[in-house]
Amino acid sequence: MRPARALIDLQALRHNYRLARDTTGAKALAVIKADAYGHGALRCAQALEAEADGFAVACIEEALELRAGGIRAPILLLEGFFEASELELIVEHDLWCVVHSLWQLEAIEQTRVAKPLNIWLKLDSGMHRVGLHPKDFQAGYQRLLASGKVARIVLMSHFARADELDSQASAEQVVVFEEARKGLAAEVSLRNSPAVLGWPNIPSDWVRPGIMLYGATPFEVPQEVAAQLQPVMTLESKVICVRELPAGEPIGYGARFITPKPMRIGVVAMGYADGYPRLAPTGTPVMVAGKRSQLLGRVSMDMLCIDLTDVPEAGLGSTVQLWGKDVLASDVAIAAGTIPYQIFCNVRRVPMLYSEG
Ligand SMILES: *Cc1c(COP(=O)(O)O)cnc(C)c1O
Repeated sequence: MRPARALIDLQALRHNYRLARDTTGAKALAVIKADAYGHGALRCAQALEAEADGFAVACIEEALELRAGGIRAPILLLEGFFEASELELIVEHDLWCVVHSLWQLEAIEQTRVAKPLNIWLKLDSGMHRVGLHPKDFQAGYQRLLASGKVARIVLMSHFARADELDSQASAEQVVVFEEARKGLAAEVSLRNSPAVLGWPNIPSDWVRPGIMLYGATPFEVPQEVAAQLQPVMTLESKVICVRELPAGEPIGYGARFITPKPMRIGVVAMGYADGYPRLAPTGTPVMVAGKRSQLLGRVSMDMLCIDLTDVPEAGLGSTVQLWGKDVLASDVAIAAGTIPYQIFCNVRRVPMLYSEG
């Protein structure tokens, strides 16, 4: 069998969840949208369900998969419903629902619901993606109450720049949020992973950690709390071919790397069809036979090449870690000009093997 695989450490996932809850003292919704950032939503939910306060996903399709898999914990739909007809299923499956636009509010007013809804009313506090305008927020809250269709309202907003530790933008968003919710007696939820890790003074009865659950830092610089995260996914494969090349020989598509000296090259069964970023350049870190080495030349669909020149103990069959506990996904992401979120979400084709750590 092809040796490429992703190992998922569920104990590390639980460690990271506890870190989110314990550092904030808040209730924490584990964000497992997009198949738990590529880690497998149902398996991750099962691993967390005994202790998680709830889960968050992007849409009802993702929530129904979890319900079908037996997950009974609260599940929040981060974008609410896309069509009013989803409200029936939202009630039937006991889902919590973000309201981020006036059209959603109107749909709730106009739809008969069998049971009162759990609504997370979202404010656009400055990111300008979704969320009610500050001038509509109080009225929106009152309209939800007046509709008689709501059991509970949580007030929420989302940060655009919480990953920039030297930026004032998050503090400014908090000011807008505080102004908009003045006098409303409801719980609040503001903090995503970077705000959980880096912004201890931002209020949040509920936090919404995503990327940190998977053990990757959202920051581009070292950060104290993020240093306590444990990587959950190890993407690994094996060397399937070894080449001894003299100086001046090209490697891979486009001859993007020419050997500057005699070199020993390992070909690894891993490519962009597995989700390894095609734009990762020569020099991107890998581990082989327990030693740090680097990618050489262009990544192909099913294979990539690494440097074995200074790793004489490595050869055919040696294990290669593309990311995991030794090579951080966030470092690969930086090398490839992207973020660990996308690195994880792109993983496909490889078997996912789950362990308790
Ligand atoms: C995805 C998402 C999160 C989680 O963000 P991370 O940066 O991964 O922690 C939190 N809140 C909302 C509204 C989201 O869409």
